[in-house]
Amino acid sequence: LIAELKNFKDQPTKSKDGQSKLIEANIGSPNDIDSVLDNGAEGVGLFRSEFLYMDNDHFPTEEEQFVSYKKVVEQMNGKIVVIRTLDIGGDKKLSYFEFPHEMNPFLGYRAIRFTLNRKDIFRDQIRALLRASAFGKLGIMFPMIATIDEFKKAKAFVEECKAELDKENIKYDKGVQIGMMVEIPSAAVNADKFAKYADFFSIGTNDLIQYSMAADRMSENVTYLYQPTNPSILRLIKMTIDGAHTQNRWVGMCGEMAGDANAIPLLLGLGLDAFSMSATSMLRARSIISKLDSKETANLAEQALQLETEEQVLELVSKFMDNK
Ligand code: PEP
Ligand code: MG
Repeated sequence: LIAELKNFKDQPTKSKDGQSKLIEANIGSPNDIDSVLDNGAEGVGLFRSEFLYMDNDHFPTEEEQFVSYKKVVEQMNGKIVVIRTLDIGGDKKLSYFEFPHEMNPFLGYRAIRFTLNRKDIFRDQIRALLRASAFGKLGIMFPMIATIDEFKKAKAFVEECKAELDKENIKYDKGVQIGMMVEIPSAAVNADKFAKYADFFSIGTNDLIQYSMAADRMSENVTYLYQPTNPSILRLIKMTIDGAHTQNRWVGMCGEMAGDANAIPLLLGLGLDAFSMSATSMLRARSIISKLDSKETANLAEQALQLETEEQVLELVSKFMDNK
């Protein structure tokens, strides 16, 4: 089986009927790239930049960040690298910075809410990202976007940083794509409007499920509510994908669900463009997609959306996959 999967390493991802998709990797550090390339990634769909901040005793400087981002972009050699801006707060703490105490940190001062309020910290990161964009194909992605206003503010700040770099004669890729995570239901249900401003979306199902089900993703007492293929979640994903496509934007997914064998047929059927996951899941995902027909899976997804429970959806998928 492992040998069979190896055959998929250097093949582009295609469904049985020839639709092109991307299988990409989630990474947390530039050191992950060797294994990512070894497993045939067609890009990095999510670089969680917070690890640069967490494995440190100070906010990383612009220069320190630039070195890391440049390394990843260069090693990926023209393949897209989506780097997410600082997603700190919630469960992710820093030894050198004290966040205000809150009753519900997952619903509090974190991610884009924090960086929009701390432009000094944000500036170092955005400048480092822009500078690294000159060395390959880089996408900048904002986490935890809840409103169009937040996205516009973040994007305007990138424009401000570009103008600074222009003045200083420092090069960057003028075509750098600026996108957002869709991981809060308010963004999913209004995706068509967000898509007017964002170059791309990446669906963060880990948080999207948490916030839709109102179930803490870290709590062992409510794990039964973590239901990626519950029809309610599938409908949010459908709205996100359809909304993006009305504006000709591409949509990826970088939550755990993207690498879930039960979910892949549904996601293909819903029209997802890029699947980003841990390096070890990529070849299996490419192999699964190669056996699936996009019209058949569209029909499957349509049926799944009409069901009532996750259990029913899983049964439907299991029957569908039986003869694949
Ligand atoms: C997500 O929320 O699905 C996601 C990919 O981001 P994280 O797991 O880092 O919150
Ligand atoms: Mg998240």
